[in-house]
Amino acid sequence: MPEECIFCRIVAGQIPADILYQDDGFLAFRDISPQAPTHVLVIPKTHIASSADLTDDHVELAGRLIIIARNLAEKEAIAESGYRLVINCRSDGGQQVPHLHLHLIGGRQLSGRLG
Ligand code: 5GP
Ligand code: ZN
Repeated sequence: MPEECIFCRIVAGQIPADILYQDDGFLAFRDISPQAPTHVLVIPKTHIASSADLTDDHVELAGRLIIIARNLAEKEAIAESGYRLVINCRSDGGQQVPHLHLHLIGGRQLSGRLG
């Protein structure tokens, strides 16, 4: 685990987080700076820097990431009204934390713009 990675430190319990879900491989917690009433980050516990670092070995992991977000949307009662799933990748994608994470954002009407 990279010592300096904020999300690895959350996985290790070294930094507190409002955790909504966890299993052997994944963790989901509320974003510290929410952009909407529901703003949750879903991460693999293993350190993968970005979506650009995924390989064919991660097919199951990438699928689980989305299914966990989908299940949390149900729990947060935003599945029916809708939501957005976002993965920012590297510099041009605006990725700030270099540990792969899926944003689950909803609970209000989101802008139609993508960037
Ligand atoms: P990115 O811009 O990399 O896609 O998103 C990183 C997200 O992580 C941002 O929305 C930011 O608010 C959130 N974040 C950064 N540091 C922390 C932290 O220490 N705890 C939590 N819960 N969220 C964080
Ligand atoms: Zn990490």
